[in-house]
Amino acid sequence: MEKSFVKVPKMGPVIAIDGPAGTGKSTATRRLADQLGFVHVDTGALYRAIGFLVLEKERPEVDLVASAVDVARSVHLEFQRSPEKNPANRIFANGRDLTDLIRTPQVTMTASRVSSIPEVRAALLGLQRRLGCQGRAILEGRDIGTVVFPDADVKFFLNASVDERAKRRLIELEAAGSDAPSFEEVKAQIVERDRGDSTRAVAPLRKAQDAIELDTSQLTLDQVVATMEKMIVERL
Ligand code: C5P
Repeated sequence: MEKSFVKVPKMGPVIAIDGPAGTGKSTATRRLADQLGFVHVDTGALYRAIGFLVLEKERPEVDLVASAVDVARSVHLEFQRSPEKNPANRIFANGRDLTDLIRTPQVTMTASRVSSIPEVRAALLGLQRRLGCQGRAILEGRDIGTVVFPDADVKFFLNASVDERAKRRLIELEAAGSDAPSFEEVKAQIVERDRGDSTRAVAPLRKAQDAIELDTSQLTLDQVVATMEKMIVERL
């Protein structure tokens, strides 16, 4: 267990799922949460919301750090379920639904940049822990098993080859109807994001010592979910 001095009081089991983008993490987490009756906390959406709000400000490039810290410390972020919408798990910032605005390539890259700012990470830590502590929660992110819930009951670290992840991301972008970039562009973005996420000074993306590592390159999503569900049931 990492940093065992961090003991977050929990009302029920907490499952931590970390790993880079394109490993099937988000879809697998969503399905597992539905199947097991757990609350799903998409922590990437919190960083994306901050990234989006920073981009909305004037001269975001000039004041990126100050602006991101200011937003992260003052904004009220919450998740709400709206079963009639897709996705049903919605992210709200000061009452405004940002869910459909935070998946653009520009917001994605800005989320990655703001996530390297220690004050931004600190501002989001308490919220992530509160959401997870409500009981029966499954959190996905980059540092859930290492920093947010080092004492999570079950931890996974999903991985896959860069080519496979880029292929999946491209399919997603095409399905979303956006002007799909080339495979090489998508791959370059993934490599750049991995580099930023893994080399930042605070809470870099890495596998917790006690996390179960799963390489999803050769697995279908159904296989990923079935494997994870079996392991969770065995351990809880
Ligand atoms: O998971 P998702 O791709 O939506 O996350 C967007 C960005 O937010 C990531 O590239 C990463 O930089 C950041 N993030 C993070 N820590 C988390 C979740 C996401 O730094 N727990």
